[in-house]
Amino acid sequence: MDSYVVIGNPIGHSRSPQIHQSFAQATAQIMSYERLLAPLDAFEQSVRNFMQQGGKGANITVPFKEQAFAMADVLTPRAQRAGAVNTFKFEDNGCILGDNTDGAGLVLDLKRLSVQLSGQRILLLGAGGAARGALAPLLAEQPTQLVIANRTLTKAQQLAALFADLGEVQACSFDQLQQPFDLIINATSASLSGELPALSPACITTQHTQCYDMMYGAEITAFNQWALAQGAAQVMDGLGMLVAQAAEAFQLWRGVLPNNLNEVLTSLRKTLTH
Ligand code: NDP
Repeated sequence: MDSYVVIGNPIGHSRSPQIHQSFAQATAQIMSYERLLAPLDAFEQSVRNFMQQGGKGANITVPFKEQAFAMADVLTPRAQRAGAVNTFKFEDNGCILGDNTDGAGLVLDLKRLSVQLSGQRILLLGAGGAARGALAPLLAEQPTQLVIANRTLTKAQQLAALFADLGEVQACSFDQLQQPFDLIINATSASLSGELPALSPACITTQHTQCYDMMYGAEITAFNQWALAQGAAQVMDGLGMLVAQAAEAFQLWRGVLPNNLNEVLTSLRKTLTH
């Protein structure tokens, strides 16, 4: 049986086995998918061991995405752009193909939610790994404007420069933002600690602006709570992105895109505990 793992540290919390097992069932693929805890100082050895056991592929999560980028023999263009790898495919010739499906997962989820991207003014909050992974797939949808705002301005400026060849992308600090956007994507980790990016309410047009927080949880995130209080038309969280990035990885491995994303998302949502 073809075997796959998600590698991280810690890894016990990962929902990926549940997601991929549901995809395998829905697409009639015979495969196994488990969690693999890699010691913090032995990521590469853990991957090599799994390959020697006949593993076919892996997802890579915190804190190993940059190490996975360095370890891949071949990178997809989107992984090259993202500077990080969340999916390995082990080729029959021993080559490791590195991909990054996070940004594609975000866009797939936004489309599932019928959020329009082309011709829209998009604000991306944050300039860490998740923001970087999202930039190329977002720009490919041809928004009118894409602004990256970050607490540390220089990081936003670096990202804007890196992606300038792909479209109209600008950088600014939070306090420079006083104009409304159609879509605001929170790719900061502020919600993890219940904090808020210092964003002006002027960025939200009542009953128009849609907001997407990449973070998710049993409760509405702090950012989405704030956005609703400012009159946002709709708030969405990143659970769908998690499922959609997994679907993209599944397609790379198995050659088929699962079509049960909504079902997987609904059952996953029920397992989130308060
Ligand atoms: P990083 O650590 O790489 O980046 C964190 C970013 O958040 C930086 O831009 C940082 O700003 C900013 N930040 C942190 N705290 C605050 C704060 N209090 N106020 C304003 N800005 C803040 O994290 P990632 O990019 O990997 O992850 C970001 C978020 O995306 C996390 O919540 C993560 O859970 C989520 N995520 C969700 C995924 C999904 O599938 N749903 C997939 C990947 C990530 P600065 O540069 O100034 O430090």
